[in-house]
Amino acid sequence: MAEPETTDAGRDFIRDIIQADLDAGRAQSVVTRFPPEPNGYLHIGHAKSICLNFGVAQEFGGQCHLRFDDTNPVKEEQEFIDAIQRDVRWLGFDWGEHLYHASDYFEQLYDWAEHLVRTGHAYVDDTPPEAMRSQRGTLTEPGQNSPFRYRSVEENLDLFRRMRAGEYPNGTCVLRAKIDMASGNMNLRDPVLYRILHATHPRTGDAWCIYPTYDFAHGQSDAIEGITHSVCTLEFEDHKPLYDWLIEHLPVPSRPRQYEFARLNIGFMVLSKRVLTRLVQDKHVTGWDDPRMPTLAGIRRRGVPAAALREFVRRVGVARANSVVDIAQLDATIRDTLNPSAVRRMAVLRPLKLVIENWPEGHTETLEAINHPDDPSAGKRPITFGREIYVEQDDFMEDAPKKFFRLSPGREVRLRYAYFVTCQSAVKDASGRVVELRCTYDPASRGGNSPDGRKVQGTLHWVGASDAVRAEIRLYNPLFGRPDPGANGDVMADLNPASLEVLTGCLIEPALLQAPVGEAVQFERMGYFCADSDGTPDRPVFNRTVGLRDTWAKVSGAKVLGAKVSPDGRG
Ligand code: ATP
Ligand code: MG
Repeated sequence: MAEPETTDAGRDFIRDIIQADLDAGRAQSVVTRFPPEPNGYLHIGHAKSICLNFGVAQEFGGQCHLRFDDTNPVKEEQEFIDAIQRDVRWLGFDWGEHLYHASDYFEQLYDWAEHLVRTGHAYVDDTPPEAMRSQRGTLTEPGQNSPFRYRSVEENLDLFRRMRAGEYPNGTCVLRAKIDMASGNMNLRDPVLYRILHATHPRTGDAWCIYPTYDFAHGQSDAIEGITHSVCTLEFEDHKPLYDWLIEHLPVPSRPRQYEFARLNIGFMVLSKRVLTRLVQDKHVTGWDDPRMPTLAGIRRRGVPAAALREFVRRVGVARANSVVDIAQLDATIRDTLNPSAVRRMAVLRPLKLVIENWPEGHTETLEAINHPDDPSAGKRPITFGREIYVEQDDFMEDAPKKFFRLSPGREVRLRYAYFVTCQSAVKDASGRVVELRCTYDPASRGGNSPDGRKVQGTLHWVGASDAVRAEIRLYNPLFGRPDPGANGDVMADLNPASLEVLTGCLIEPALLQAPVGEAVQFERMGYFCADSDGTPDRPVFNRTVGLRDTWAKVSGAKVLGAKVSPDGRG
C-alpha cells in the first residue's frame, strides 16, 4: 500500500482550508453538500466525494446536504434518485433533513435569471447552436460577439418570458450571461444559462420547458443552502471564475467558496457514468448492480462491506494532483477489512472425489470446525466427515514436484479439522482424466492433530459427500483487460472477455445455506465470497468478493485470463 497522500492522520488540504477558515472567522460553521446528477448509479469515485463531504461535515460539527442536481430531465429518472439515496446510506452517511433538489429552486433561479437580464448581464440569443459554437472561438482565438448581444433589456425580458411560456420549440434560443467573448477562460465567453427543453421532469412535471444549465444552477443552489465549502473535482476548476461571477452579480443570500480535489481513478476500471450507462444499455453487464461494475450497488453485491470502501478512500487520501490508484490497493483494503470479521467456511470450487479406503462404509463422524481463527467468540460449528469427501482438483498432481505439499501418490496431507490422509492412487476415466483419489487415513490423527509428532506440510480444505450442497459460484475479474481502458480508442474494445467465470458444480458445506445475502465469508484457502440474491435454497449462488492473494497483478501483465486462486493461498 502506497503512503496516503494525506499530510498526517486524517488531514488533507481541504481540511486544512476549512480549519483555517474557522480559525480566521471566515466561516462560523461548516456546511457541505454532495450533488449527484440522478442520471445513473453512484460509483466508487462518488464514494470519495461522499466520504469527503460528509466526513468533513462530521469532523467539524457541521452538516452535509444531499442535493440532486436534477436540471436535465431528459436523462434523469426516479430509479436513479432512489438508488443514490440507498447507496449513500449504505456507505454510512446520513443527510438528516437536508435532502434537496436543484429543482426545488427553479422559481428562485428563474427570478435571478430575470435579475441578470434587468441589470444588463444576460441576453436571449437566437444564434443556431452550430454558429454559436464557431463564434465561441478557441483556446488561442477570442470568440465573436453574437449579433443578439445588444438587444435591449425590454426585448430580452420579453423573449425570456416567452421562452418560459413555451412559445418556442427546443433549440430556438437560449439565455446567455453577458461576460466577455475574448476571455482566456472559455467558460466566461457568454455561457448559456437557460435552454429550452420540452420534457417532463421527474419532480416538476410539465411546469417548466426551460431548464438552467449546471453552471447556473449549481453555485446558486449552494448559496441558497448556505453551503460554506463547495467541494468538487478538478474538472470544475475552470468553472470557478463563472461560479464566482454569478455569485457576485446576483442578490444571493450567502457566498459559498468552491474548492477542487483530484477525482478518483483506478486502474482497469472506468469511472464515468456515460460509459457505465453504455455497459448497462448494451448489456455488457446484467445491470447497474452487476458485481463487476464499479458502482456502489455492484460492489455491495460482490460482498464488499461499506467499511472497506471508507477505509480505501481514507488510504487514498485527498490531493490536488490527478493519479491512478492500483486496483490491487482496493483488493488489499477489502481483504484487510474482511479478514478480522468474516467467518470461515469450507467450499470446493472444482471438486475431485476422494475415497478413504480404510474408513468404514456408511459411517460418518461429526467434527468441529472453528468459525474464526483469531476470534474464539465466533464459536464453532459441526462438519460431517465420512468415507467419501471432495477436495479441490488443483490439490492433486500426479507427477508432483518436490515442493507440492498437497496430494500426490504416496504423499500425506492434513484434511482441515479432520485427519491425516495419504494418497494411494488416482482413478482415471477413459480419457485419462483423474476422477477419483483413493486414500487411507490415520485414525490417530483425529481433529487434524499429529499422532506422533510427524509433520505434514499441507492442509487442505474439503467438504463431506454426505451433506455437501451443490452451488454455483461466480468468479469476477476486472471488467476491462487493460489498466487504462479506452486509451487506444473505443473503451468497449478493451472489455475483458474473462471478466466472469461461472462454476456450476461447486460443493459447499451446509452451514453456508445460512449465509446472509451480500455478507462475505471466507472460503478457506479460496478467498472471500458472499451469497447472491440470484440464489435459491435448491441452488445457492455465491460471488467471489476477492481472492486471498493478488493473483490478478501477476497474470495481467502477461495475458487476460480468469485469474485462478492461488492454490496454496492462505488467509
Ligand atoms: P461522470 O461520471 O460522467 O463524470 P459525474 O460523476 O461527474 O459524471 P455527478 O453526479 O455530477 O456525475 O457527480 C457528483 C459528484 O461526484 C460531483 O461533485 C463530482 O465531482 C463527484 N465525482 C464524480 N466522479 C468522481 C470521482 N471519480 N472521484 C471523486 N469524485 C467524483
Ligand atoms: Mg458531473
